[in-house]
Amino acid sequence: MDTRITQEARHFIEGLTRFVRDECIPAEDAIEETGSLPEPLIARMKDLGLFGLRIPAAYGGSGMNLLDYCYALKELSKSHDDIRARMSINNGIGSMAIVNDGTADQKNHYLPLLASGASIAAFALTEPGAGSDASAIATTAIKTAGGWVLNGMKHFITNAPIADIFTVIAVTDKEKRARGGISAFLVEKGTPGLSIGALHNTMGGKGWLQAEVIFDDCFIPETGLLGPVGGGFKIAMKTLNEGRLSAAASAIGIGERLLSMGIGYAKLRTQFGKPIAEFEAIQWMLADSATELFAADRMLADTAFRFDCGEDIRTHSSMTKLFATEAAFRVADRVLQVHGGMGFMRETKVERMFRDIRAYRIFEGTSEIQRFMIARDLLKD
Ligand SMILES: Cc1cc2nc3c(=O)[nH]c(=O)nc-3n(C[C@H](O)[C@H](O)[C@H](O)COP(=O)(O)OP(=O)(O)OC[C@H]3O[C@@H](n4cnc5c(N)ncnc54)[C@H](O)[C@@H]3O)c2cc1C
Repeated sequence: MDTRITQEARHFIEGLTRFVRDECIPAEDAIEETGSLPEPLIARMKDLGLFGLRIPAAYGGSGMNLLDYCYALKELSKSHDDIRARMSINNGIGSMAIVNDGTADQKNHYLPLLASGASIAAFALTEPGAGSDASAIATTAIKTAGGWVLNGMKHFITNAPIADIFTVIAVTDKEKRARGGISAFLVEKGTPGLSIGALHNTMGGKGWLQAEVIFDDCFIPETGLLGPVGGGFKIAMKTLNEGRLSAAASAIGIGERLLSMGIGYAKLRTQFGKPIAEFEAIQWMLADSATELFAADRMLADTAFRFDCGEDIRTHSSMTKLFATEAAFRVADRVLQVHGGMGFMRETKVERMFRDIRAYRIFEGTSEIQRFMIARDLLKD
């Protein structure tokens, strides 16, 4: 099985490596301090086409296959995670439902805006009463003349305060729920009845901007229905399948950067008259980290390749997300340990990456939910 990225993607990723090194990493401290991305950096991201890598070329994107995209995302994830977060929602959970299930009008209108970065996307599924059990959502969409009326509240929604277009999942039939009673809608910023609630104060990823999204008699015209009535749960799950692989790709990218920081520090730091890299305890932490990242990387390539070949990757994407995000967290912990007290200090950046990587075991489905889904597939008749 040939799971290599295309030559075209290889060249693009080489350019990304330079972008990360020369423009993103120097901006990291400012991003961390302010929780916002500098405008010139956003302009460069637009120039590089980063907001539309996964969006088909017919709508102004690059139309990358999932394998190439995951490796581009992995490279960009070696910079501050706020940069990764800003581009990945437009390419992933914020646009994929439109790409997969949108009408011609929806695609023609929204996808060019998302691909260019002129519009920012958000995906609104989670609610205070419905996290892992997404089928328990309480936000309703009631049919009315010419459209639908949404009521309810979402929370933890990334990009919410800056988003122009929300993919919203709501109940349209309380009896059927996940079996044909949940539908997807496209809701634009500024729609009467849509408001952004409190911004969550988070442990990491200050610039990811998670907030509440409130619907109060929010009227959505018929043209805002995304996919068939009752098809929303399937749409959300399909979107998350791909999203899980993106989470894995980013986690591996962060892990690889951490490992190179750990190697650099171990060679430089001297104790007991020699570099700490000469101590077996340190070597084993680095060796275990490299081994786990290699395994995660191969799982990523295999699963993305299967997707591009048209396979159903439900279980593989859960396994890859589970392993990659847990492995990357172990890498972050070891690399922090390799740095000793310096690892705890803000100036090394390890502590920031340690905080940011922690969220990866939670969003796009927790590790426990990934295990639950893998086991359910193993045990089915
Ligand atoms: C940084 C961040 C960004 C996010 N961005 C978005 C976004 O853009 N859009 C969006 O819709 N959502 C988003 N979320 C929400 C995210 O998807 C949910 O937090 C996640 O699905 C878990 O739901 P919960 O937080 O309600 O936890 P809960 O479901 O309450 O889980 C609590 C604990 O119970 C465990 N648990 C629950 N059910 C089971 C079970 N059946 N078996 C075993 N263990 C179980 C969980 O694994 C977890 O350990 C984001 C979350 C974070 C942290």
